[in-house]
Amino acid sequence: MKKTRKSKKPGTNTQEYSAETKLIWGKSFTPKWDYSHHVVPPLSSSSTFRMTSTKRGAQGFVEFAHHVDDLVVQSKAPIYIYDRLGEPNKDLLEENLAVAEQADCAVTFATGMAAVSALCGILLGSGSEVVAHKMLYGCTFSLFKNWLPRYRVKVAWVDFNDAKALERAISPNTRLLYFETPVNPTMELIDIKRVVEVARKSNLHRSRAHQIFTAVDNTFATPFCQRPRELGIDFVVESLTKGLCGFGTDMGGVVAGPAWSYDQLLMYRKDFGGVLSAKSAWPILVYGLPSLAVRFRQQMNTAQRVAEMLERDKRIEVVNYPGLDSFNQRTLAREQMKDFEGGFAPGTLLYFVPKGKTAAERHRKADRLVNYIAANSYTMTLAVSLGNIRTLIEHPASMTHSSIPPEEQLKRGIDPGGIRLSIGLERAEDILLDLRTALEQLD
Ligand SMILES: *Cc1c(COP(=O)(O)O)cnc(C)c1O
Repeated sequence: MKKTRKSKKPGTNTQEYSAETKLIWGKSFTPKWDYSHHVVPPLSSSSTFRMTSTKRGAQGFVEFAHHVDDLVVQSKAPIYIYDRLGEPNKDLLEENLAVAEQADCAVTFATGMAAVSALCGILLGSGSEVVAHKMLYGCTFSLFKNWLPRYRVKVAWVDFNDAKALERAISPNTRLLYFETPVNPTMELIDIKRVVEVARKSNLHRSRAHQIFTAVDNTFATPFCQRPRELGIDFVVESLTKGLCGFGTDMGGVVAGPAWSYDQLLMYRKDFGGVLSAKSAWPILVYGLPSLAVRFRQQMNTAQRVAEMLERDKRIEVVNYPGLDSFNQRTLAREQMKDFEGGFAPGTLLYFVPKGKTAAERHRKADRLVNYIAANSYTMTLAVSLGNIRTLIEHPASMTHSSIPPEEQLKRGIDPGGIRLSIGLERAEDILLDLRTALEQLD
């Protein structure tokens, strides 16, 4: 049986194929699901799995989350027990996500926030400390600010682009350096290699039990635009709800990291229970990942044109898009944001601020512009979320980042007039038409 499969599908699982093609085919033939008759993996929707004997049941429980440092076990036919422990659709998706992120393993969760929580869960305990970049996604900020301290986990906030400040913020109890790049919503970039270097230097003097780990939330870039693991980062966390799902139909999250973390993440997920539903894993596996490259190429082209148009507009003060020549971290953007083939991949999101002498005036203008778009625009919708095939616009200060008090927002770089735009698959000309009309509201 194995032989015929091999001859049917030469080259399966080899290094010869590009990561982009692997997003579509994954392992193609896998013991995770025997779909030799299916071109598309079937939607597996079963909360429990049949055992042929108590012996096999016992073996399943013994083997669960016991890969230790030997992920080879993964390639054997798994014994499925119960959805919360693992099931075929999630497993297939996880294999493909690990390849996409260049990680040893990936474990999915119900949402991006469940993934962030799981990462904290396996790395932190009472008394440990996190150093986080001063600006994070609103709910991650709230998790770090409001919940971690209740478990006696301290969070220090610093500017990760200030390597000296980052070094100073690290204490003997620090276990995790956590950041996003591009930063949501400002599109500021953090130099990944520099953070990795700070952690590496600090780890030289630490025992294995006291190592510092680095984690990047890669939601904005997706693995198509950036693979932090290739630059030495330990963990990537990501919301699957955004660019990876792409169509705005499902929620999910993933932690991708080193082999040793696999069993801990599985155990954490089993006991805390935030599993990705098979019904949500399936569309991400079948539609989201396979279309990631083609969606992102198109959406990035449009984002570039929109950014250039906004930059030329006299009514706009700031446009932050890593693809612009005027982007103040242009060199870093070109080094760090690359597609699987090494091409520049500045992403599908941009941030801009209307002109105004005072913060209040910029806020009023952003309000006017976004409300006009909400009421009149065909191609742009006022909604949170991002990475969707539909163009979405939102006002971070009052929406996604409202958990951060206004005076803190300013300190952390969010302007009251800042607007976040997530470019979709609509024709560029149509988005530009809607934007041009809307900008007249600022005259
Ligand atoms: C949306 C988002 C999250 C959270 O993901 P959910 O799937 O909504 O839980 C985390 N980080 C970033 C940068 C996000 O944009």
